[in-house]
Amino acid sequence: MPPASSPVVDLTRELVAIDTCNPPGDERRAAGVVAARLEACGFVVDIAEFGPGRANVMARSPRLGDGRMRCWTGHLDTVPVGDTSWRRDPLGGEVADGRVHGRGTSDMKGGVAAMVVAIEQLCAAGGPPPNLHLILTGGEETGCEGAARLIADGTVPPADQLIVGEPTANRVVLAHKGVLWLELVTTGRAAHASRPDDGINAADALMDALVTLRTLQLPGHHPLLGEPTRSLGTIVAGTAINVVPDRATARVDLRLLPGTDPDQLTRDVRVLLGPQVELRTLTALPAVATEPDDPRITAAVEAVTAVVGSQPPAGVTYFTDASLLAPAMGAAVVVFGPGEPAQAHVTDEWCEVARLDAAVDAYAALAAMPLAP
Ligand SMILES: [Zn+2]
Repeated sequence: MPPASSPVVDLTRELVAIDTCNPPGDERRAAGVVAARLEACGFVVDIAEFGPGRANVMARSPRLGDGRMRCWTGHLDTVPVGDTSWRRDPLGGEVADGRVHGRGTSDMKGGVAAMVVAIEQLCAAGGPPPNLHLILTGGEETGCEGAARLIADGTVPPADQLIVGEPTANRVVLAHKGVLWLELVTTGRAAHASRPDDGINAADALMDALVTLRTLQLPGHHPLLGEPTRSLGTIVAGTAINVVPDRATARVDLRLLPGTDPDQLTRDVRVLLGPQVELRTLTALPAVATEPDDPRITAAVEAVTAVVGSQPPAGVTYFTDASLLAPAMGAAVVVFGPGEPAQAHVTDEWCEVARLDAAVDAYAALAAMPLAP
């Protein structure tokens, strides 16, 4: 059984205790905690605010030389605690049974803590790791808002390699799906429900549109990601049983494979549904995939597997900030983090202490590794 306290466990608990549930996000205080720790290591740190209480952290090693750059990233916000009551305080960071318990322990304050502690350990041992940027975002959970802001501001540095600390249970992940969140809106005309022909039923129109949308073929199969998926998330229509609804709205979640352009897919859906359905894109992020033999990441994968053991690379269904950051940087992506993928967004979320400790060692090995020439 690992000890109940270690630098990475302590920092995870400190971050969990700061409520960054998104909405509203409120990452500023957590950003201040990690920024202070990185500044103490000599990193050059900027807290980039993008709204009241909202913040990204941009940090870079004081040893930025010429040549290839690497970037690590994670997010500071979490999903809400939810309505189901937790067995332990979701912000308590209680350590029990070899696990840290609380919202964000797996997704992904544990990963952020492991990255920061790895940098601290390297700084204490031999100085800051060279050519390393760290980007800790806000607003990831609601569609990579913080990362989008950094790209719009032009502050994302070029890099060859992007390590994303999202939950993979310390497994090397080389691909994740993209996402398209669409809102369908139909409008009609209200009428007394006893004379429905006097009105136009927006809910009926929406149901027709949703049935049509089910005929949409999402292309492809990916060896690590399987098939694309579609999930109808919400339907909102009507105000009373005896009123013909004049407006109806549905939100649909599509998870996409590499090679599917979410903007093109949106255009296809628009053609399929026709002009009677108002279509809004809420989030559109492409999938991410790195070839296992990409020279920008092969040494990184070796460095990680030397610490955590070798397993075949995997894919995950969730999206990450890499959908936006990797194309902006020109980077190849490895997702690697101590959280449990199955613990993301669930009630009674936890993260294993042993995985946190191992992730610190793995990130330290990554930072010590030479980049491809
Ligand atoms: Zn996450």
